[in-house]
Amino acid sequence: MISRYNELVRKTINSFIKKRRFIMVKAAVVRPNSDGYVDIKDVTLRPIRSNEALVKVEYCGLCHTDLHVASGDFGEVPGRIIGHEGVGRVTQIGENVTNLKIGDRVSIAWFYSADGTCKYCVTGNETLCRNVKNAGYTVDGAMAEECIVDAKYAVKVPEGLDPVEATSLTCAGVTTYGALKIGDTKPGEWTQIVGAGGLGNLGVQLAHNVFGAKVVVTDGDPKKLEAAKENGADLVVNRHDADATEQVIKGTNGGVHDSIVTAVSAQAFTNAVNALEPNGTLVAVALPKGDMALNIDKTVLDGIKVAGSLVGTRQDLRETFDFGAQGKVKPIVRTEKLENINKVIDEMKAGKIVGRVVFDFTGDKD
Ligand SMILES: [Zn+2]
Ligand SMILES: [Zn+2]
Repeated sequence: MISRYNELVRKTINSFIKKRRFIMVKAAVVRPNSDGYVDIKDVTLRPIRSNEALVKVEYCGLCHTDLHVASGDFGEVPGRIIGHEGVGRVTQIGENVTNLKIGDRVSIAWFYSADGTCKYCVTGNETLCRNVKNAGYTVDGAMAEECIVDAKYAVKVPEGLDPVEATSLTCAGVTTYGALKIGDTKPGEWTQIVGAGGLGNLGVQLAHNVFGAKVVVTDGDPKKLEAAKENGADLVVNRHDADATEQVIKGTNGGVHDSIVTAVSAQAFTNAVNALEPNGTLVAVALPKGDMALNIDKTVLDGIKVAGSLVGTRQDLRETFDFGAQGKVKPIVRTEKLENINKVIDEMKAGKIVGRVVFDFTGDKD
């Protein structure tokens, strides 16, 4: 009886939801000419379908990937709402949604959804699914007052985690965490983080605080190296030094167990391979143009492994959020109003931003 009653309630609620009109939201969309900037516009969102939820966005971070989308680098998507570092609360759920309820705080990530059935999806490699959807690129993203999510793929944000910080963990955090896992980062072994920017900064904290690894950081900016030290790096090396690779090998007593390359430089990949100890793993995260030089002798004789790493799975994201809630990883964030987004894009292009700029949607509406 109770389940029949519940079913009736559910049907009534759902038919109400179905009747709900399209809603208008303020959003940042890719311009018609894909010139790398966005327009702030009122955009109509369709009503949610079954298996979906509507999320009232609280915060959304701006990422370099958004700039690529806005410039048409992955293919032009004029009118698309950008944003894949979103956090907000569920305000509506569609039919068949069982894992979320109204009021839950969830994330909107680059890995928006997948088919859930292919060999990648069923073997823990869902981010490689050929039918993947990406928020803010192939589907409308989170740089808007509200956003539709695929309920099964919207990872909950723990209440103990600052929602502003959570936005960065949704992208940079889970990306570096996934990479450290792929590198088989181990307690007491040396991990190299190449590039101490937004990704590298979180990588140092995770490698040190979560994996218990010894961490060496290479970067060309003394300020970033100083920050890396504060975040737990045991050794820092300026990549502009002529003997930078030798310094890493010497300082780590023979090379690093794994190297996570977050620097957008093909040369950085080559240097990273050379700094690996036997049986070491290079994990490629950054996407510089061109190819990396891979020394065949070194690769064969030292049993070197090379792996690419693309964001992280839902489970990786859950774990990353938990580490954030425990204070083991803390992104550097600053909030901004949506109106200023194109100014922030300019700052980002000029490399002036330390950490992440996060757009605040909490003050816009009642
Ligand atoms: Zn991102
Ligand atoms: Zn799949």
